[in-house]
Amino acid sequence: MTPAEVEASTWDSHLTYLFGLSDGTVIDGAQGGNHLRHLNHSCNPNCEAVERWGKDGTLQLDIVILRDVLPDEELCIDYSLSIDDAQPVEAYPCACGSPGCRGTMASQD
Ligand SMILES: [Zn+2]
Repeated sequence: MTPAEVEASTWDSHLTYLFGLSDGTVIDGAQGGNHLRHLNHSCNPNCEAVERWGKDGTLQLDIVILRDVLPDEELCIDYSLSIDDAQPVEAYPCACGSPGCRGTMASQD
């Protein structure tokens, strides 16, 4: 989706699984996405999202493991949510419980 398509969409009654990419496009995991749309947030993640250019010329997303994980360990990434400046980071609380939890899923940038 382009930023304009995201802006024009109505999200009020839907769970959103949007992932913003560095070229300004957005992946909507609810539209043709896969089970990775359910990847939870942690302030101490064991995975990260890495962009790469696909053979079709589109920017794609890989989820890469950052360290060894146990067979029953949950996979998670740091959402680093981009939020409107008018909203406080406390509006997006984190309950990951990891050491060093920053208390919000919002980006610290
Ligand atoms: Zn946390």
